[in-house]
Amino acid sequence: MTLVDSHCHLDDEQFEADRAQVIERALDAGVERMVAIGTGTGPPDLEAGLRLARQHHFIYATVGVHPHDAAKATAETLIAMEALATDGKVLAMGEIGLDYHYDFSPRDVQREVFAAQLELARRAGKPIVIHTREAWDDTLRLLREHWHGGGIMHCFSGGAAEARQALDLGFHLSFGGVLTFPKADAVREAARLAPEDRLLVETDAPYLAPVPRRGKRNEPAFLVETVRRLAEVRGEAPEHIAAVTTRNFDRLMVNL
Ligand SMILES: [Zn+2]
Ligand SMILES: [Zn+2]
Repeated sequence: MTLVDSHCHLDDEQFEADRAQVIERALDAGVERMVAIGTGTGPPDLEAGLRLARQHHFIYATVGVHPHDAAKATAETLIAMEALATDGKVLAMGEIGLDYHYDFSPRDVQREVFAAQLELARRAGKPIVIHTREAWDDTLRLLREHWHGGGIMHCFSGGAAEARQALDLGFHLSFGGVLTFPKADAVREAARLAPEDRLLVETDAPYLAPVPRRGKRNEPAFLVETVRRLAEVRGEAPEHIAAVTTRNFDRLMVNL
């Protein structure tokens, strides 16, 4: 079984002491490629993911300003982002979106920075990785206004209704550790109804470790647990889930 972790934060300080071993364990578990999300600690640094991607041929990156850091973005941030978008290792712009749960940046600023990054991704011809939390309606509205292309709803945590809306907009749904949580029946329902050519898997490591590692530091090797659960939910073999999610990743992100 070979897998792609479509979303992880390998730059996180929680990996400072043993990053090489974490990457080694991922490869041993069959996680052959990883996307290092580049949001890091926010602007002015946009290369948290790219630094790792430059060190390993099997690691790719995104660039983007996380909604938490929207207040740190300036005109220069967007100019730098646009330049980085042409790097061959940068597969997508992300994670971008809205987070009204933490409200680390004012909501109007989040919306403004999100819209600007959607326009930028459109010019760059790159797919987008969306982070949305307690902001579903505004996220959809801005996508409808500013976006016509491919993308990923990262760590998809909605139910059937949200899944249908995202699928109608042409999005892929990426499932992570939340899928394995006991109370996540609605998410599993979404995972059941998604067409197989729109499925992706991710860890969002170091966050949201799947059962039976819930509450611990997550790492890409644990992707296997989410894939097993997704297979169970859909009544398919884990090998099948691995094959379709890898194919979907290549089609959307690598243009194979
Ligand atoms: Zn996120
Ligand atoms: Zn993330």
